[in-house]
Amino acid sequence: MKNEFQFIEQLRVKSAEKVADLSLGIGDDAAIILPRSDQELLISTDLLIEEIHFSLSFTAPELLGYKALAVNLSDMAAMGAKPRFYLLSIARPKHITDEILDRLMQGMSNIAAQYNVALIGGDTTSSKHNLMLNITILGETAQGKAIKRSTAQIGDLICVTGSLGGSARGLELLLAGERLQHTNHQLINGISSKIDADAAQLCIKSHLMPIPRVEIGLYLSASSLATSMMDISDGISSDLGHICDESKVGAEVYLHRLPIAFDATIDQALNGGEDYELLFTINPQKSDALLALRHRFPEVTITEVGHITADLTRWLIKDQQREILLPKGFDHFSSGG
Ligand code: ADP
Ligand code: MG
Repeated sequence: MKNEFQFIEQLRVKSAEKVADLSLGIGDDAAIILPRSDQELLISTDLLIEEIHFSLSFTAPELLGYKALAVNLSDMAAMGAKPRFYLLSIARPKHITDEILDRLMQGMSNIAAQYNVALIGGDTTSSKHNLMLNITILGETAQGKAIKRSTAQIGDLICVTGSLGGSARGLELLLAGERLQHTNHQLINGISSKIDADAAQLCIKSHLMPIPRVEIGLYLSASSLATSMMDISDGISSDLGHICDESKVGAEVYLHRLPIAFDATIDQALNGGEDYELLFTINPQKSDALLALRHRFPEVTITEVGHITADLTRWLIKDQQREILLPKGFDHFSSGG
């Protein structure tokens, strides 16, 4: 089995290429970044624990490496930031063989290359039982251009990218024994026409390979179109609640407008986790700009699902009835997970 230093040396060699703004990468006690005076630096972190956030029984190591970084990229997308650097801390138990570790790192470095983010450091240790992965990601926006949760305005339209509930449905299918019907090679190289025709397979793919909406986030920041934004990691019922809490506003969401993933249920679309789509608000007078956004990203549906209200309540409107939109998304503490 590779020891800690061989593992780090391998990462150091792989990440040795020159990166703008980075004066020192892996190998010293700390990395050194040269801050740019006209940019703000954004930092976020995410911890993944085996058997709580993922299971190698249904996730190929490449896809675990992919997803671990993808969810961090999604946090940068959700602020409208350009992801630049990441740090990876890994606690490795004995059952993670060199082959699994290499495949995991391969999946991670593939998506890192795709989004042009550089690995600049981390920590490596052993673990008694579970594999743990912690990524800290750094990104940048122009001064004042980060899109927060706290700035939604009364009357704004509420929009979401993509579809909702697919990841929760995908997880349900995986737990019931379904598997992705194609090779890692096809997935990593984006050869997915066969899956895209099959709703159940597409849900499994949404769970294992969420697409971070980085380009849309950057567009929303540069164009100043979104008044507030976050990514949907716990279900829209909870996450829209966060925007409302932080912005001190309420919301009305129309059930018939929700972009429910094929094969997913209403409950999964409202409360299911890990879709990693963007949830954002825009001024209703900016319909031309919304049209321009849709033209710029024709491959991603962007749906208006409701609007922001002055009344602090969050309503779900079903036909002519309304009911309170309760935050039923996943809570790690109360679920004991
Ligand atoms: P320290 O004793 O200061 O913690 P380490 O020996 O753990 O130093 O790490 C040496 C170098 O390797 C540091 O630059 C650190 O950031 C980097 N490093 C360690 N583990 C990882 C990892 N899992 N991914 C990326 N870089 C790592
Ligand atoms: Mg260390």
